[in-house]
Amino acid sequence: MGHEGSADGPAHDLAHDLADDQVDVAVIGCGPVGGVLATLLGRLGHRVVVIERHAVPYPLPRAVHFDHEIGRILQACGIGADLPDVSEAGHDYEWRNGAGQVLLRFGARPTGPSGWPDMNMFCQPALERLIEQAAADQPTVEIRRGWRLVGLDDGPDGATLTLEPDAGAAEHLRARYVIGCDGANSTVRDLVGTTVTDLGFFYDWLIVDVVLHEPRVFDPINLQICEPTRPTTAVSGGPGRRRWEFMRLPHESVEELDDVARAWQLLEPWDITPDDATLERHAVYRFQARWADRWRTGNVLLAGDAAHQMPPFAGQGMCSGLRDAANLAWKLDLVLTGRSPAELLDVYEVERSANVRAIIDFSMELGQVICVTDPAEAAERDARMAEGAASGEAGPPPPLPGVTAGIIRADDPLSGGLFVQGRVDDGRGSTALLDDVVGVGWRLVTVHPDLAGRLSADARDRLAGIGGRVVTVAEADDVDGTYSSWFAEHDVVAVLQRPDFHLFGSACQPGDAGALLDDLHRSLTSPTDSPDAANSPLSPLPAPDGGTR
Ligand SMILES: Cc1cc2nc3c(=O)[nH]c(=O)nc-3n(C[C@H](O)[C@H](O)[C@H](O)COP(=O)(O)OP(=O)(O)OC[C@H]3O[C@@H](n4cnc5c(N)ncnc54)[C@H](O)[C@@H]3O)c2cc1C
Repeated sequence: MGHEGSADGPAHDLAHDLADDQVDVAVIGCGPVGGVLATLLGRLGHRVVVIERHAVPYPLPRAVHFDHEIGRILQACGIGADLPDVSEAGHDYEWRNGAGQVLLRFGARPTGPSGWPDMNMFCQPALERLIEQAAADQPTVEIRRGWRLVGLDDGPDGATLTLEPDAGAAEHLRARYVIGCDGANSTVRDLVGTTVTDLGFFYDWLIVDVVLHEPRVFDPINLQICEPTRPTTAVSGGPGRRRWEFMRLPHESVEELDDVARAWQLLEPWDITPDDATLERHAVYRFQARWADRWRTGNVLLAGDAAHQMPPFAGQGMCSGLRDAANLAWKLDLVLTGRSPAELLDVYEVERSANVRAIIDFSMELGQVICVTDPAEAAERDARMAEGAASGEAGPPPPLPGVTAGIIRADDPLSGGLFVQGRVDDGRGSTALLDDVVGVGWRLVTVHPDLAGRLSADARDRLAGIGGRVVTVAEADDVDGTYSSWFAEHDVVAVLQRPDFHLFGSACQPGDAGALLDDLHRSLTSPTDSPDAANSPLSPLPAPDGGTR
């Protein structure tokens, strides 16, 4: 494996003009999104303070699924090796009607395009512990638990935050940028006066998490029961755990449903009783579809649930937030180090909100399939969907839309798509995922042996100037043939991969790589001249009925 260019970590002089008492970034909220953002920024050498109102981590599970792309983002946080302890691969996700007829089925590859399983079932508090530790391990990151953001005064050079401790006097903190990762009821969003678009889609569901006393096989591992008398979800909650979700029916009150005896009663038909499981919790959640109308206000930005919420039927709420973090981290890095103008931060919303809205739509469409309580409507749905399900093999989950506008090269059919990660020879007699060998950042990846040597000194300098590297994957190192087959299939010799694993663009000939780097340089120095969504080459998501949307 050949790779050259700068080492990982801060590739630029980070001694930017900050007053001693001013941090680069204040992250509000130490949920999964705040934790990942702080870790990624810390790994790039930035001074980050994470403010979290709870003195101890939130102990109860919410999300139970993340996809292959998120596995790679978590790997970039340095916790890839720990993920098998808190997650298990899901191999299928089936939708059935009350009579057991299959309406929709997704298979899942044990290794998805990013080098991680398509479906990872996990326990959110266990994952959050890993993420918080990864953030705390960064020498430039400080986590302040037991402090609540109550005030925000933004100015041209940064913001002044007012923080209140659990006990004691309020304090002020200066930050160049403030990122609201403070969840669905975001204080940051309120303080900057950002309105929210609410699609008015809401259903209440009883969430029940159990820890099994003995291991048990569930087949399929993930199941939706589209039964009008009680729409139900039964999925893995990570190793040794199961999650059930029961929809509140029109005649039921939240109080009637949110009851421990009622939870056990609903579990009984699943052969789950206090003899074989411990009820970890039960709680009624309202699933909603909403987004913040503006993600950047001056030096203040929103990410994760603070910027968007969606019903969990596609298991993508937290995943979307972690994509925000991966997207925002490299943009903040370039802006904080003066390599891109602050307008690059406007492109964050352009890139992420289109993706999030497509996933919200998809999640709502799934919800409209499952949340049917009218028997006639359910029968009509079953007839329509069962025909499609009977005819086809269970394919992998549909690919999510990539980056459709922003820092992507115009008129390149590959730009904006998610690039693959394969296993390679690590040079020490073993194999490893590519990112673990060459690190994360801007990567000009090629299978062409001479491409690196043909780059001009200027092009090399530009790549090195943004912390980038040329990575040449030789055939002998490409242990599963991931790269040789990807490049052969797409008929290109090199791709320029962004630090969030999406492609800026591709080169058909070795001599085209220099122009690719020139285009990137132009995009990063004049980010608002970047292509708009109309140039998007990406396909829309398939609809649940197999059509396109
Ligand atoms: C039942 C259910 C099932 C779900 N299933 C999935 C799934 O399978 N897959 C998936 O991807 N997603 C799923 N989700 C969504 C997922 O849980 C959320 O999207 C994710 O937790 C959001 O992370 P976050 O870091 O943005 O916000 P949060 O996790 O809410 O964290 C926000 C943090 O900010 C802190 N905070 C708030 N205000 C302040 C303040 N003023 N000062 C300081 N700190 C503050 C809070 O204490 C909190 O710790 C599910 C959600 C639910 C409810």
